[in-house]
Amino acid sequence: MYTSMKPILAKANQGGYAVLAVNTFNLETSKAVIEIAEENHAPIIIDLLQEHLQNHLDFKYLRDGLITMCNEAKVEVAINLDHGKNVAHTKQMLYQGMKSVMIDASVLPIDENIAITKQIVKLAECFDASVEAEVGAMGSIAQSNWTSEAMYTKPDEAIQFIKATGVDCLAISFGTTHGDYPEGYQPEFRFEIVKAIKEATGLPLVVHGSSGAGFENLAQSVKSGINKINVGSDIMKAQRDYLLYTIEADRTVEYPNLIHGTIQAAKDEIQKYLNISGSINQSL
Ligand SMILES: [Zn+2]
Repeated sequence: MYTSMKPILAKANQGGYAVLAVNTFNLETSKAVIEIAEENHAPIIIDLLQEHLQNHLDFKYLRDGLITMCNEAKVEVAINLDHGKNVAHTKQMLYQGMKSVMIDASVLPIDENIAITKQIVKLAECFDASVEAEVGAMGSIAQSNWTSEAMYTKPDEAIQFIKATGVDCLAISFGTTHGDYPEGYQPEFRFEIVKAIKEATGLPLVVHGSSGAGFENLAQSVKSGINKINVGSDIMKAQRDYLLYTIEADRTVEYPNLIHGTIQAAKDEIQKYLNISGSINQSL
């Protein structure tokens, strides 16, 4: 059934596990996410990146199909706006039926981040929707802004932010970054950042940029207090590789069969992340 992230993250927080949030931008991959969650009896989150919605398919075209799929699911499924950077667009998503949104003003000074997030929290209350925000600067590999000391979240700032805004969950930066790491690069995880924020606030915490971060590191993150694992790149890479291999093997492959095959490719990769999340058999 379709739900906001509120109840599924509250239960994950209590149970000490993490719910997977997978980036999708079409119905096919969303179908893969729901099917694999059902097979594992796991609650799950469909993460729709603002950038994908604006560049590929607007939420108004996906909405009815997605919400129908969620309502028919045998497990709890949330639809969450991922990295909402445009305040007006984020508000529009709430009005259009998204029960969970992330407002990401993390590049701004903390006071401005707090002020913008508070606006969204206030509006989200009207829809009983959940709000995720971010403190810290995970950066992205594509933009080469991801190896500095400054990217790590300062626990004091995050604690102040949580108390001031009333967000439902917070994305923090403690080692991961968005995109594909260069080959052989090992991200440096600082689990003490997660523990400090968790101990002080008890709030569900979120890790972004999980692709390539290492399953050991992610499992340790969950133990430290992470309740939501965002993964995008590895799933998309699995789908891209499936397309590449299939076309190389048979250049006359029928297009519908090709696209249909990406569903199983996504499911196989998502399963690997579900295995370390602790969310298997945690659906109500
Ligand atoms: Zn992210």
